[in-house]
Amino acid sequence: MKEKTLHVTVTGLVQGVGFRPFVFRIATRHALSGWVQNTNENVKIVVSGSSSNIDQFLCALSEETPPAAAIENIVVDEIETTKFPEFSIMHSNDVSDEITEISPDIAVCDECLEDIRKPGSRLAYAFVNCTNCGPRFTIIKDLPYDRAKTTMKPFAMCPECRHEYENITDRRFHAQPTACSLCGPHYELFIKNISISEDIDEITCQVSQSIDSGGILMIKGLGGMHLACNAFNETAVENLRRLKSREGKPFAVMFRSLGDLKAVAFVNETEEASLVSWRRPIVLLKKKEGLNGYKLAVGLNAKLNLLGVMLPYLPFQYQLFEKLATTAIVLTSGNFSSEPILIENEEALSQFGPLVDAVVLHNRDIFNRTDDSVVRIIGGKERIFRRSRGYVPAPVRTAYNTDGIIAFGAELTNCFCVGKGKKAFLSQHIGDLQGIETTQFYESTLDRFLQLFRVKPSLLAVDKHPAYISTRTGLEFGDFPVVKVQHHHAHIASCMAEHFLDEKVIGVALDGTGYGSDGHIWGGEFMVCDLNDFERITHFEYIPLPGGDSASGEPWRMAVSYLVKVYGNDFTKLNLPFTNQLDPDKVGMLVQMIGRKINCPLTSGAGRLFDCVASLLDLVQVATFQAEGPMRLESILVDNCSQSYTYLSGETISFDATIRGIVNDINLGIEKPIIATKFHNTIILVIFETVAAISLKQGINKIVLSGGVFQNKYLLEGTLGILQKNNFEVYSHATVPTNDGGIALGQLAVASKRRELQCV
Ligand code: ZN
Ligand code: ZN
Ligand code: FE
Repeated sequence: MKEKTLHVTVTGLVQGVGFRPFVFRIATRHALSGWVQNTNENVKIVVSGSSSNIDQFLCALSEETPPAAAIENIVVDEIETTKFPEFSIMHSNDVSDEITEISPDIAVCDECLEDIRKPGSRLAYAFVNCTNCGPRFTIIKDLPYDRAKTTMKPFAMCPECRHEYENITDRRFHAQPTACSLCGPHYELFIKNISISEDIDEITCQVSQSIDSGGILMIKGLGGMHLACNAFNETAVENLRRLKSREGKPFAVMFRSLGDLKAVAFVNETEEASLVSWRRPIVLLKKKEGLNGYKLAVGLNAKLNLLGVMLPYLPFQYQLFEKLATTAIVLTSGNFSSEPILIENEEALSQFGPLVDAVVLHNRDIFNRTDDSVVRIIGGKERIFRRSRGYVPAPVRTAYNTDGIIAFGAELTNCFCVGKGKKAFLSQHIGDLQGIETTQFYESTLDRFLQLFRVKPSLLAVDKHPAYISTRTGLEFGDFPVVKVQHHHAHIASCMAEHFLDEKVIGVALDGTGYGSDGHIWGGEFMVCDLNDFERITHFEYIPLPGGDSASGEPWRMAVSYLVKVYGNDFTKLNLPFTNQLDPDKVGMLVQMIGRKINCPLTSGAGRLFDCVASLLDLVQVATFQAEGPMRLESILVDNCSQSYTYLSGETISFDATIRGIVNDINLGIEKPIIATKFHNTIILVIFETVAAISLKQGINKIVLSGGVFQNKYLLEGTLGILQKNNFEVYSHATVPTNDGGIALGQLAVASKRRELQCV
C-alpha cells in the first residue's frame, strides 16, 4: 500500500479544548506516526502512514472534532515521505506575542456527569471537569493557558489527578483545571454569615429545602454570583425583586431538564440546539399560557410572552436539581440592580449575607467576571443579544487589519473591542456605564484584555457622544490618534464587519438613541455607507423628546409629544383611554414644555415611536426596564394580520398618518393586538419602500440591518422576508449583538478602514 506523509495546519478555536489529545487519539487509531503541536497561531500536525488510513484520519479530523473546538480552516500539504517511531504530542512554543486564542467556559460534559455518580475521588465532586468541559476564560489570568496562570494555582494536584493530567490517552490529559475531592476546591454553605457545612450532600439538601420552601439564596457560579429562588413561587419572586431593587426586568429561569422546560415554553429545533449546546446560553422562548395549571410566577417576566430560560451547566446545578422538588429556579445575576455581577466571596457575604436565607460559596476564585449570555432564535438563526459566558473571549474574525485598535463602545449595554491582526476581541457584556462599579469593571477588563491578548494600542475609536463615559475613557486613554464614529454608522459597520463586507451598502439603523452628527438624537436612520464614511439619506421625522434622554423611559411623554404634533394642544378632546392613567397637571406641563421648546431635544429614534404606540395602547406609561414599551408591543402581536397604516415619505419619514390611524382604530374599539400588528407591518413597509427607493437611485443591492429594534423577532423576520423576496441581499446580526453591545466592533472596523486610507 502506498505510504505518504502530510503536513496539516488547523486554524480556528483549537487550543484549550482538548484538540491535541483528540488528534493523538485519531492518529493512533489509524496507525499513523508523526506529531501534533500547538503553535502561536494554529495547530500543526504531521502524519505518516498508508494513503487510506490518512484519508480516514482527515475525515475524523473534521467530523469528530471535540465539542468546544471550532475548526476554521484545514490546510493539507504533502511532504517528503518520512517515518516516525510513533505519534507524539510535541511541546508548544509560546515565545512571540502572537498569542493563541482562549476558549470560553464550557458546560460540564456527560462523561464528567457520569464520573460524579461513580465511586472514587470524584463521587459527588462538584468541580469535575476534563479537556472537553469546564471553566476556561473565567479562571484565566494570563497566557499561555496553563494551570499556574489560572485561579486553580493554589490547588496542587493529587497523585491520581497528576497521573491523568500527564497521560496522553486520558480524557484529562492537560486539562488545566482538573481536580478531585482530594485536591480541588469545594463549596461551603453560610447562613447569616456563619459557616454551616462544607459537605456537598448536606449543602445541596439544605439549599434545596430552602428554595422549595420559598427562600432566596446567593450561589456562587462560574462567572459570578447568582441569586436563586423557586420560579413557581410568586412571593419568593416578589421578594427577590425587592431584594435586588429590580422593578420589572424579566428574570432568567433555569429548568431541571429540557422536558420540564417544554411544559411551559415552545421549543423548536434550533432553539433546542442552542439550549443544549456547550455554551448553555439563556434562550428567549415563547411561553405557553396556563397549560395543565403549570404556571410560573407571573412576576418573573412582567407579563411578557417571552421567557429567558437555560439548562444546568455546572455539576452543582445538576446536583441541586436532583434534590429539588421544583423543576425550575430563578437564576439571576447576583448584584444590586445596575451594578456588575458580584464575584468576590467577601462581598457576597457582606452585601447579601444578611439579606438572603443562605449563601453558597466556593474557594475557586473567579478572575474574569461573566454574566450568562442571552440569545434568541430569529429567522432560524441564533442571534446573540448578550455576549458573555460561553462566547467570550472567542474573537470575531474580520476581513480587515484591526491590529492595535481599541474601540471603547457605547454607553448602555457596553462591550469594548480590541484588535489583534484581523481578529477582533469583543469583551464580555460590561453593562450600563453609569455607576462607579460598572465603570471600574469596564476599565479593569480593558486592561486585562490588552495584557491577555498582547495588544499594543496604536489607534483609538470612540462614539461621537461627548458625554459618554466610554468616549471620555477613550479620550483620556493616552497619546494616540482617536477616531470618532457616529453611533449608527458604527451599528451598520458592526454588521458589515460580521459579514466581511467592505463596500457601499444601504444601512438601516433602528434603535432608541444615539448622538447624531447634527447634535440631535438619532435612531431611525437610512444611510448609504461604506466602512469609512456614511451619508444620511433619510430618517424618521424629528419629534420633541420632552425631558430629554433621561426621560426616555417614560413612553407617555412620547405619546403626548406625537399627539401634540398631529392634533395640536386639543388632543385631550380625543378622549383616549390611556389619558386616564396620566396626571392632567403633568400632561399640561409637558404640553407647555413642547410649546416653548424647553428641554425638548429632537429625536428620530425608532424606539421612541414604539414607546409612543405602547403608551397609546395603554400597555406601559412608565417603563420599569429598558425597552419595555417595544417589548410589550411585540408581546401581543398576532400572526394573521397583514394590514398596515399609512405614512408619508418626503424629505423625512412622517408617521402623522400612522398616529391618526392608530387613534382612529382605538376609538373604533379595534383590539390592541391588531393595532400593534398593523403598526409593526407599517414599520416593515417603511423599511422596504425606503430601501427600495434608495436602491433604485443609487444602484446598491446590499442592505445591512442593525440597531436594537432588530431584536424584535416579528420585525426582523418580516423585514428579511420582504427584502429577500424582492431580491435584495440582506445582512443582519447573529454572532455579534445588534444592540449597543455590538457598537465597539463597528467602531473598530471604521477605525481600521480610516487607517488603511490614511485618514487618521
Ligand atoms: Zn468533561
Ligand atoms: Zn485530585
Ligand atoms: Fe444603538
